[in-house]
Amino acid sequence: MTGGATGIGAAIKNQLRGEGHTVIVVDIKDADIIADLSTEAGRQAAIEGIRAAAPDGLDGFVPCAGLGPAARPYSLITRVNYFGAIATTEGVQDLLAKRKGSICMISSNSAPMLPDDEYTEMLLAGDETGACEFIDGKDANHAYAGSKRAVSQWLRQKAPEYAGQGIRLNAVAPGITQTPLVDASHADPEVGEAMKAFAASVPLGRVGDPKDIAEAVCFLLSDKASFISGSILFVDGGHDALLRARQF
Ligand code: NAD
Repeated sequence: MTGGATGIGAAIKNQLRGEGHTVIVVDIKDADIIADLSTEAGRQAAIEGIRAAAPDGLDGFVPCAGLGPAARPYSLITRVNYFGAIATTEGVQDLLAKRKGSICMISSNSAPMLPDDEYTEMLLAGDETGACEFIDGKDANHAYAGSKRAVSQWLRQKAPEYAGQGIRLNAVAPGITQTPLVDASHADPEVGEAMKAFAASVPLGRVGDPKDIAEAVCFLLSDKASFISGSILFVDGGHDALLRARQF
């Protein structure tokens, strides 16, 4: 997995290890493999490190590393959340095929809140330079929600191909969850007030705990989810249903 040092990723790591799994963690800090997924060199180091640690293949993969809307420049969000996630997933695809493993990506319930636009198209086309230039002139929410929207659409486009190799490709779409990312977002002058209002409007009456998200991720990775492929599971206390009651 990537992004296992803190927050949701740490909860996933702890749950998997608690269940007896061996987990190889890639992160920019506190990890088995230290790599900066905002860079091409870091992504390659991550892939090579995983390949060296798991030459016989992987049963699962969770590209969880991500930056919230408080990160600057905005293009850093693009680089880690979209290009870091996709490059590492593609880089271990054959290791997953060897063991008919499953992937759980991390989207967000913010992903459906934007329409498709040039940013989405550049992301899906793999145009990192173009997408980063475009988004640096926009805003934090656009950078963040757009990156998660494109991850979700990449998943939907690729799931049949991966399924053909025996790999189940799914995602969770967490709602607002108490992690360092959210602490930083609440303190941010650009998005802080909107984030606090959003946190106060969750239908179940609370924000998520990282363990809430980890439970869903571990379910999707497990054999209990053996016929689930191409799905995006909202784990958000009912927020997406509140906001998009006529869409599913
Ligand atoms: P977090 O900040 O606690 O965790 C993010 C992890 O990614 C950290 O371990 C961090 O070190 C790592 N990371 C950041 N930049 C990196 C880089 N350049 N290279 C390698 N690793 C890097 O935040 P979190 O809330 O636990 O976020 C985990 C995932 O969940 C992210 O993809 C985030 O977008 C997503 N998410 C979070 C929420 C939320 O409300 N917390 C909601 C929806 C989706």
